[in-house]
Amino acid sequence: MSKIIAGNFKSNLNRTQTSQYLQKLDSLVQTSDSKVFIFPSISSMVENNFKHITIGAQNCHYALNGAFTGEVTLEHLNELNINTILIAHSERRNLFGESDEICAKKFEFFKEHNFEIFYCIGENLETRNNKNELEFLANQLSKIDLKYDKLIIAYEPIWAIGTGINASAEQISKSTSYLKSLTNAPIIYGGSVNENNAKEILKISDGILVGSASLNIDKFYQMIKE
Ligand code: PEP
Repeated sequence: MSKIIAGNFKSNLNRTQTSQYLQKLDSLVQTSDSKVFIFPSISSMVENNFKHITIGAQNCHYALNGAFTGEVTLEHLNELNINTILIAHSERRNLFGESDEICAKKFEFFKEHNFEIFYCIGENLETRNNKNELEFLANQLSKIDLKYDKLIIAYEPIWAIGTGINASAEQISKSTSYLKSLTNAPIIYGGSVNENNAKEILKISDGILVGSASLNIDKFYQMIKE
């Protein structure tokens, strides 16, 4: 199975920087057999019309359009031919108050519209220290359809995101094999993945979701080559 390599730009890179990056990356990945996704910041979204990269949305409200100040809705994604979305990222949950219920509503809506859905889950340090992480992960998945054939699960332990401390191979394998007992969806890993650890992580996962290290095109391309 080809590996999934996804870059989450979060609120970084402006429109000019994003469009230069995407054009360059699209020409670089011509020979790669990985599936490459980029999630640009919302205001730097571009049409999903690249040959070798799929553009996804980091966030979207679960409506076609309407009175939702500050949100983008399906109509905006449709215009850009975007049919991939990231849901339930821990920053959306923790900084913007998105509960499991809201994430599940988004999931249902975008499932109905046949989107490819990256659904993020991951425990915090306290849960891991209490050895409750597997139960916690199962609970985070309990409100969504794990049989949806366009689902990709991103296992992203919160303590590993943006900290420079990635989960160990053993920790990733334990969570991944448990998740594989719940679903046939690909399980990718995110949390301080970079050009130095990507190769090892890709041996034990179906792919990677990369935050800060994806902002540098040379580093990100190196991960794709791995
Ligand atoms: C993320 O937030 O999805 C992520 C994986 O971030 P980083 O790679 O910076 O840890």
